[in-house]
Amino acid sequence: MCFNVSTSQAPLAGVSHQRITVFWGRYYVEEEPRLVQCRFQRIGCSWRGPFHEKEAHELSCTHPKKPGEEVMGALEALDAQRELDMTLFKQVYDLLSFEKVTFSDLQMRPYRTDDFIPRLYYETSRFSALGSQWVVKAFVSENIKNPAMTCTRLLTYQLVCKSKLQNPVRLHYLALRGPFSELNMRPRVYDFEFNQENMETEKKEFPIIDSNECNKILAAKNISFRLILFQIQK
Ligand SMILES: [Zn+2]
Repeated sequence: MCFNVSTSQAPLAGVSHQRITVFWGRYYVEEEPRLVQCRFQRIGCSWRGPFHEKEAHELSCTHPKKPGEEVMGALEALDAQRELDMTLFKQVYDLLSFEKVTFSDLQMRPYRTDDFIPRLYYETSRFSALGSQWVVKAFVSENIKNPAMTCTRLLTYQLVCKSKLQNPVRLHYLALRGPFSELNMRPRVYDFEFNQENMETEKKEFPIIDSNECNKILAAKNISFRLILFQIQK
């Protein structure tokens, strides 16, 4: 059975979570068992399943008995991820030393295109930052798998400059969870040079942590987030 997105609730820990199906361009949320990971995930087990099957899986999980050499592969992958995270932290620390840094707490509202099959997109109202006017737009990318009509979802966003630019403006930008928001995000820094010919960034991944978070976003009416702009001085 399907429930309309707007009437759904956020997932409850350990009980269930929602699956969004798409039908004729509309999103529907259904309850399905919440997926959890095996406790041996750190040493390479990729099992994901309903909470009530976790214990049985862990009793029969083969990963604790694997030789050290195989476990090393999983640990190296973890180290590589940690290295990436550290690089991001260092990058953010460097960016915070820029002369021109500004942050805006924004809210994107849902709209539908006029297409035959309307497509959902999100947009903020105009806001001022670094002497120009901007909007942020977000789009839901679908990877629909027939015949179940379920899809893996990805949210992408773009920053659009609405002012006339006399000179090119080069920015780093970073979307974060806003105040009072419970979004679970894995921040990522992007950069772009705006000029008279290029007034919008490419669509970049809105860095939410996984598709559960994407479900939460689609089930909520608005998307609140904080956008930090760092201007690169020439
Ligand atoms: Zn396992």
